[in-house]
Amino acid sequence: MTTFTNLTGAAEIGANCYLISSGSTHLVLDAGMHPKKIGNEAKPQLELLDTRIPQSIFITHAHLDHIGVLPVLQDLFPGAEVNMTDATAEIGGAMLHNSVNVMSAQRMFDGVAEYPFFTHGELERAEKQWQRRAYEQSFLTANGEVLATLYDAGHILGSCGVLLEMRDGLRIFYTGDVQFDDQSLIPGASFPEEGVDVLIMECTHGATPRIKGYTRQRELARLGHCIREVLTPGGAVLIPVFALGKSQEILYELGRLREKGKIPSMPIFFGGLGAKVTQLYDRLSESTPRLHPGLRLFNEVEICGFSNRELPSVSPGNIYLISSGMMSPHTLSNTLAAQFLPQPHHAIMFVGYSDPDSPAARVKSAKQGEQVRLGHQPNVGQAYPRNCRVECFDFSGHASRDALISYARRLNPRHIVLVHGDFEAREQMSSLLCEAVPNARISTPMPAEELPLN
Ligand SMILES: [Zn+2]
Ligand SMILES: [Zn+2]
Repeated sequence: MTTFTNLTGAAEIGANCYLISSGSTHLVLDAGMHPKKIGNEAKPQLELLDTRIPQSIFITHAHLDHIGVLPVLQDLFPGAEVNMTDATAEIGGAMLHNSVNVMSAQRMFDGVAEYPFFTHGELERAEKQWQRRAYEQSFLTANGEVLATLYDAGHILGSCGVLLEMRDGLRIFYTGDVQFDDQSLIPGASFPEEGVDVLIMECTHGATPRIKGYTRQRELARLGHCIREVLTPGGAVLIPVFALGKSQEILYELGRLREKGKIPSMPIFFGGLGAKVTQLYDRLSESTPRLHPGLRLFNEVEICGFSNRELPSVSPGNIYLISSGMMSPHTLSNTLAAQFLPQPHHAIMFVGYSDPDSPAARVKSAKQGEQVRLGHQPNVGQAYPRNCRVECFDFSGHASRDALISYARRLNPRHIVLVHGDFEAREQMSSLLCEAVPNARISTPMPAEELPLN
């Protein structure tokens, strides 16, 4: 029998980590760190692995909620083989080195004694063990028991879904984070269309149907229109973005809007980790799936760089494309938001998903004039009146609910396991899939739950 164990700490989008076991074979899918929790609470429940020593680990992409505790897992199981794409290895290294710096700062300023989980030196040693795998080239796992294949997931550069063909013939496909539609730089997913028995699927947008008539082009035109409305009379625009993925997609589009004269030719402030990741996007522009092969963002789009030590000051007419996307405390977008919120002529424009408990979600839902706090909790930190304009756009790197359901229907697996979604998303997806794929068993495993897959 093959089983699936949910090693995440809570039933929400957090520290993604799952165990597939079959006899003496144990495989771990992702090793993420919770984006909001602090200290040991941010880790998955790795203690549940106990005597089930994994032979192989698969990392689907370099977002920290999928790769953040990989060096911790490698330290616990030094013999485990670690598989990922070449781009994930390149970007994952940069993300994790940055995470060491963030954790060290949290130890110093917030007294989190267990941080950092690993040092730069330990990370460098862990990186040397990573096996770089190409898309759609099958390989046997370390114990020779399972045939594995990585498929392009279209979510960010290097992202993959993982197909596992077990010795008993069971074929399991884990989507990781997926986007089926083309984005601006990254083409949509190229996933298997048949021959899967168990589909382990993300459902980030399970509770959010798309607005009728949505197209990415229309949304881009609206973004350009809103930016122009704010910049022309002398306002400034803050766009909080994830350093990896959304930063590069939006930077490309801002460059195009500026080039076509759709927005005024004003400076775009862009720096920090987002700029470091952009260099990697540029370096890999010919060797990875791209909509514009060879395009180098830093040649195409003129930016105003800045170092993390000197905050860019907010000046009229400027655009600030700044991480983090969730406006987490101690990040630059959080600090800048405090300057933007009270100013009626400025705007904050959101371009992606925010966790319901994040400061970004609080700003999104605040009414005009309402007091907003930007701390870890809604009642922590100084309150600012929301006087600025707030706009939300849908440029998600995650598949829409309809696209997920349509994929599941085409694939027609025997069993669908829903992961990577908050409670409402998993519940709604579960009932929609019961109708759309009537022959499939639908599971929404809770943390620590061990679920038979056969
Ligand atoms: Zn992701
Ligand atoms: Zn994720």
